[in-house]
Amino acid sequence: MRTALIAGNWKMHLTEKQAVTLTRKLLWVQNQMPVRGVEVLLCPPFTALSQLHKLLVGSTIKLGAQNMSAEVEGAFTGEISPLMLAEFCSYVIVGHSERRAIFGETDALINRKVKNAITHSLIPILCVGETLAEKESGKAHQVVYAQMIEGLKEVPIFSANQLVVAYEPVWAIGTGWTATPQESNALIAATIRPALVRLFGEQVANGVSVLYGGSVKPDNARGFFQQPEIDGALVGGASLDADSFRGIIEAARNCS
Ligand code: PEP
Repeated sequence: MRTALIAGNWKMHLTEKQAVTLTRKLLWVQNQMPVRGVEVLLCPPFTALSQLHKLLVGSTIKLGAQNMSAEVEGAFTGEISPLMLAEFCSYVIVGHSERRAIFGETDALINRKVKNAITHSLIPILCVGETLAEKESGKAHQVVYAQMIEGLKEVPIFSANQLVVAYEPVWAIGTGWTATPQESNALIAATIRPALVRLFGEQVANGVSVLYGGSVKPDNARGFFQQPEIDGALVGGASLDADSFRGIIEAARNCS
């Protein structure tokens, strides 16, 4: 049984103060009406991690970062190392399509980040997904498979709970369009799961949680969570609103 995970990627939104307000609202609802069997993760900007860590002590809500350096320490101005994140976070998003497209991150760099995260006991959420042009030219499977194999090359994991994969079709991120739940499930079954099997063997591969990401909202979430290969969601826009994010968490109830 894979655990359902609902992760909020706040991107470059919210000051520390705003992040605390949103987290307090989420905590309040979670304490009043806990949703069991669903792991909830918040990935705020780096500047809010310390405060949110204090706020979340004793709660079931986990913290993650949105990015991380491939280095550990040294003269890398502006970078944040896994050693720094490990004080606050249990997860880190790696290879988000915005990092690939805007900041030129390659599969080779993403692979170094994944390894660096695992070495420092952070769980990487590796994002993979095709662009619209790749989808339209029938290359989605090929592109995603290559991102998996290159991004996870020689990654030393021994157990399934050391890694999460997020399938995020690039054309569905922040656009309001979604892949259909069936389409996403089929791609994961035909591409992501076989890549995991090739890399880590059947037993580990079958235990790795795979999330869907791309314009998930409370009213479309359930359709994704009912798919056997989809274990949760990576949520951008809708995670910035407490009611919407809570609606998605509730949709995951009983679907795990
Ligand atoms: C994301 O940023 O990973 C994402 C899926 O964004 P949105 O939910 O806004 O499409």
